[in-house]
Amino acid sequence: MTPAPFSSSEARAGSVLTVDLAALVENWRALKRKLDPRCDPGAVVKADAYGLGFEPVARALKGAGCETFYVAHLDEGLALRPIVGPSARVVVMHGPNQGTERDFAAHNLIPVLSSPGQIAAWRAFAQANDVLMESIVQVDTGMKRLGLSEREFAAHIDNPDGFLGLTPLALMTHLACAETPDNPLNEAQRTLFASMLSTFRGKFADAKGTLVNSSGIFLGNAFHYDFARPGVALYGVNPTPQMNSLMIPVVRLQAKILQIHRVAAAAPVGYGATFQAPDGAKLATVSAGYADGLLRSLGNAGHAYLGEFRIPVAGRISMDLTTFDVSNVPDSILETATVIDLIGTQYTLDDIARDAGTIGYEILTALGHRYHRRYLPAQAK
Ligand SMILES: *Cc1c(COP(=O)(O)O)cnc(C)c1O
Repeated sequence: MTPAPFSSSEARAGSVLTVDLAALVENWRALKRKLDPRCDPGAVVKADAYGLGFEPVARALKGAGCETFYVAHLDEGLALRPIVGPSARVVVMHGPNQGTERDFAAHNLIPVLSSPGQIAAWRAFAQANDVLMESIVQVDTGMKRLGLSEREFAAHIDNPDGFLGLTPLALMTHLACAETPDNPLNEAQRTLFASMLSTFRGKFADAKGTLVNSSGIFLGNAFHYDFARPGVALYGVNPTPQMNSLMIPVVRLQAKILQIHRVAAAAPVGYGATFQAPDGAKLATVSAGYADGLLRSLGNAGHAYLGEFRIPVAGRISMDLTTFDVSNVPDSILETATVIDLIGTQYTLDDIARDAGTIGYEILTALGHRYHRRYLPAQAK
């Protein structure tokens, strides 16, 4: 007798996460069409491509023609370099930690220099080693997160040694309120950036500008400059919350049903007994919980789909399990149902984020590591 074959990862996993790389590429192309044709569209793939998997995402975008990739950490840049090949630009937005300059040079990673200390250290390193590698200087135009203040920038401009030894590719800043186009801070930041860039070009005539993230792309061509830095919109989150999304869904998350209960007499559900299932209720428990990125704030607040039926979360989310009230699903469908759609076209990243009281970014980057991951290939052009 032949022994039974071993099971597949898909069979073993509690949930299946499908990442549609063709949809990802379509979103990148849609953003590119939206941008001034002179602007390099680029792609932000920090945090494991917002949780969706660095390597397949970067490969698909590279295949579609993306030539500039942005990460946050040096380690992300080091991992990305062999994936995207020697010719792609890899920008490390946090710049060098003390003493890590050599790694940037050795792997041709473009550092973003945001503080006077980072600039001084890079300048010293570049001069000592005859390094002419490009860097990006970041200025703060209204967010107080990273970047030279107006005063620090002016001091560097006035000091002949301030930027000496640097070969700046671009001046960079980041918008605080890009997803709310009516906020006057957008135009204030753009105006200040325009003035700083023109000053910077007095020293470095060829310096480019980079201002916009996903939402910033929709503020109009005056914001686009030379390099865009879209992240979340590539992965299907709506960058224009006040309008219908231009983006198509990239992520589908399906959790397997472990058990269905038919409640004979009214009974509480889950930890803390926070939900009362009435007589005759039907409940389905799936193999995914907060350890898989279903945020606990979705307890008694989130939804999902079983086929075409919208179903609410019943009670609290457990670490590995979530129970849904499926009373509205006909028995004929429940009998054969195997999975519940936690995220997809009917209940999107933006929908689950709203019910959880957060943003699509946090849902994506919280996605767990126990899923079986299925990547639908990017079509050849
Ligand atoms: C994360 C990040 C981006 C990408 O922003 P999205 O809103 O995801 O498009 C762009 N620029 C900087 C500096 C960032 O930190």
